[in-house]
Amino acid sequence: MRIVEKAPAKINLSLDVLHKRDDGYHEVNMIMTTIDLSDRIEIIEQPTDDINIVSSATFIPEDRRNLAFQAAELIKQNYNINQGIKININKHIPVAAGLAGGSSDAAATIRALNKLWDLNMSTTTMMDLASQIGSDVSFCINGGTALASGRGNDIQPLPSPPSCWVVLAKPDLSVSTAEVYGGLNLNQADHPNVSAMVRAIEQQDYRRMCALMGNTLENVTMQKYLEVKQIKEHMIRMDADGVLMSGSGPTVFGLIRHESRAQRIYNSLNGFCHYVHAVRLYGAQSALD
Ligand code: ATP
Repeated sequence: MRIVEKAPAKINLSLDVLHKRDDGYHEVNMIMTTIDLSDRIEIIEQPTDDINIVSSATFIPEDRRNLAFQAAELIKQNYNINQGIKININKHIPVAAGLAGGSSDAAATIRALNKLWDLNMSTTTMMDLASQIGSDVSFCINGGTALASGRGNDIQPLPSPPSCWVVLAKPDLSVSTAEVYGGLNLNQADHPNVSAMVRAIEQQDYRRMCALMGNTLENVTMQKYLEVKQIKEHMIRMDADGVLMSGSGPTVFGLIRHESRAQRIYNSLNGFCHYVHAVRLYGAQSALD
């Protein structure tokens, strides 16, 4: 038996870090939305009782450190399943980029095994499992657009934002999320207005949504990596409607309403920047179909 599942990337339209919690995690308040850039997860049953990961990317772990492995292992343990599987991960989402590629692979593995093994897990059960793997995995179970609070795993669905183009640009470097949080001084940090962003999305107010984009982690990463700041400044000069770093970076994205301007911005970054891609903002749960 074999199953294929899509694992879309996310961007953060707004990301506020409130304080450090007693359990060591940070309390966050953020708006995530799914974009039209996906890994493809294929799961094939095998005669032996192991989990084998094979990935098209050479630089991600193929052992227990892989988040898709952890998702499969958790399900096998919780449901006493002895069936072995091979997980083929066809990577399209850049790694350690702030786009939740690993988290989305883990969520796709949970969805796929739920179907493959007829486990009848509800969304809440899948999200509970997901939260044991990582903070962004719960959002990735349903994707779409949501307000994520707590340590990132309390999910409240939101309507899809107004549709637009997203130009993604990533310099040739990977960022450690833990390191960025470590460098954060919350007394001097910017705090975006997340509630106002929720209202802008509910009112389908594209201009206001772009104006309200903000990320508490952006300055920490930009101070360390000048390239991130340069890409943001470039996109602003090229007249993107809104520009922000996603997650802990280093990917910067620009929202652009008109295709011709998105194309112009894409062309201007191509060659100058290590990774550039133009996609549609999905924002709806149907992105998983
Ligand atoms: P987030 O936005 O959730 O912080 P990210 O986009 O910054 O995530 P990932 O691409 O998920 O980062 O990778 C973070 C780390 O996780 C990498 O160092 C990578 O080695 C490891 N990892 C484990 N499993 C995977 C996977 N399936 N795909 C990509 N990276 C993975």
